[in-house]
Amino acid sequence: MLDRSTAAWLALVFGVLLTLVLWRYVGEHLEDRTRDRFANHAALARDNLLSRMQAYEQVLHGGAALFAASDAVSRAEWGEYVAALHLERSLPGIQGTGFTAMFPASALAAHVAEVRSQGFPDYDVHPPGSRAQYSSIVFLEPFDARNRRAFGYDMYSEPVRREAMERARDTGRAALSGRVILVQEFGTEVQPGFLMYLPVYAKDRPLATVEERRAALLGFVYAPFRALDMMQAIFRDDLRDAHIELHDLHESLQTLLYASAGHDRTARYVASHEVEVAGRKWIASFGSTPAFEADHASAEPALILYGGSALSVMLFAVMHSNARHRRRMHAAALHLARSRDEFRTLVENVPGVVFRCQIEVPWKVMHISRGITLLTGATPDEFMSGRVTFGDFILQEDVPAIVAAIENACACHANYEVEYRMRGRDGRIRWVSERGRVAVDVDDKPLRLDGVIIDVTERKTAEEAIRNLAFVDTLTQLPNRRFLLDRLRQGLANARRHGRHGALLFIDIDHFKRVNDTYGHEAGDQLLCEIAARLRKAVREGDTVARLGGDEFVVMLEDLGEAAPEAADKATLIADKILTDLNAPYDLGTVRHRSTPSIGIACFDGGEERAEDLLRRADEAMYRAKAGGRNRLETQQAS
Ligand code: GH3
Ligand code: MG
Repeated sequence: MLDRSTAAWLALVFGVLLTLVLWRYVGEHLEDRTRDRFANHAALARDNLLSRMQAYEQVLHGGAALFAASDAVSRAEWGEYVAALHLERSLPGIQGTGFTAMFPASALAAHVAEVRSQGFPDYDVHPPGSRAQYSSIVFLEPFDARNRRAFGYDMYSEPVRREAMERARDTGRAALSGRVILVQEFGTEVQPGFLMYLPVYAKDRPLATVEERRAALLGFVYAPFRALDMMQAIFRDDLRDAHIELHDLHESLQTLLYASAGHDRTARYVASHEVEVAGRKWIASFGSTPAFEADHASAEPALILYGGSALSVMLFAVMHSNARHRRRMHAAALHLARSRDEFRTLVENVPGVVFRCQIEVPWKVMHISRGITLLTGATPDEFMSGRVTFGDFILQEDVPAIVAAIENACACHANYEVEYRMRGRDGRIRWVSERGRVAVDVDDKPLRLDGVIIDVTERKTAEEAIRNLAFVDTLTQLPNRRFLLDRLRQGLANARRHGRHGALLFIDIDHFKRVNDTYGHEAGDQLLCEIAARLRKAVREGDTVARLGGDEFVVMLEDLGEAAPEAADKATLIADKILTDLNAPYDLGTVRHRSTPSIGIACFDGGEERAEDLLRRADEAMYRAKAGGRNRLETQQAS
């Protein structure tokens, strides 16, 4: 089973890992999406560039068509043609649309003269110098101040332009030049430029081969472009989102044609396209601008990262504190269980019985220690399940005293102590001492009893023995003198109360000393015991037989009738019987012995006589019997 603390740590690790995976996944997904968007953007910009360049090419084709349609295109016609195109509106960025004538050195003077005659007396072909082949810009619309700087310029004299011109001448198709600085450039705003040429051939000449095309060449319809102006116009809508660089690629040499502001920044998203425009390769490089990156930045990954981490940590905190709480609870429960067990052991080891029970008879038990089994033979389970109760084992006659003690304790909010007897399943009766207290609720209403029961049988037996020592003659087990006097007082009181008569017989054995002397003291003891037994047998259950000491016995006869003579007669009769009984021979071990008593009788009634006086009267009567010859009765009348 996984430990809860470990589970919390695992949840944290898993949660953080999951967060990282999600963060990476969402981040990459969004990055891919943005990258795709930027790539689309770049592709659109490239297409835009291509279509614009194709459109410029179309303009040149239009110009070439004008030359094809006309025998000799005049400056005015060219101006009208270009003006009609409204290039500044439809294709902004084009610096001009012109025509450059081609002629050999032999025709230079005639050419200059012709143009001068058209109203340009200062016209000349430049740069000056002697060359085999000349070209000259003769038309260039709009014919403004900047373009006028190119009027008469021999582009063929400049290698970059010448390469494009020759390519156009030889292929018969439009050709774009490499990077140049246009002759129109001046002042501080110099920017790179390039030119596009389309050859114009003489009419009705074969153009199938390069040689034929070279021979038929009249000049070029061409357009110069200021790269910065043109690209700003083309990419106007793209520059917010992308930095753009345009390179001309020629024989593995890259030449920068155009770079938008901020191109030197390291962009997050880049795209690069190779485009072919009029036989020339360009590389268009696009890099994202801060504006694009900001537009497409998403808070989602950060939200996932921080949110997921926070959730993981929170989950961990909850699980961890829960685990700690449970650990503490567990420890507390263990501690509680241990102290409960210790307490239970303590209770169980207490000598006697610890209990908790109901207040009312028969004291149904709620808890009881196992000591109860020693007393009753029933187990604690039997008690606690209600199959047996205290009432089942307590002697019926002791119940009222217990009830009274508990009621008193309830009334006085005091502890109680009571002793009573229990009869166990083995039939043995044991004395127990119970000490308890009444537990009460908040309103002082008695709820239950808590207490201890201790087996006091031994103590009770000892007490009984001590009591017997005080009141019983140890040799014969008959009541002794003290007991007798007590019973005499009771007997006198009863006689007084009920008006009944009774009698006291004082019995002394004749010549008892001789028994001791002749047979020994033990035989004497044996004789005394036998006499005691015969005396007990001779009288009724309720009559008292006591030994005063030595060979003196006393029998108290009660309830002998309401009249004194009747009582005296009955007493005499009984005394006579006793005399006879005691005269019977005794077996003292191996010896057969005869013994006689002298008996004094003193009758009593409800008078005020004291016990001691009654005893003395009976004693006197006995003495008279001795004096009269022994083995006889003598009656002492009340004085
Ligand atoms: P009498 O006929 O005059 O009564 O003669 P007696 O020998 O019986 O004399 P008395 O009654 O005066 O003496 C009682 C004797 O009993 C004295 C004593 O030696 C003896 N005696 C007293 N207590 C015991 C006893 O517990 N056991 C025995 N064996 N003898 C006892
Ligand atoms: Mg005697």
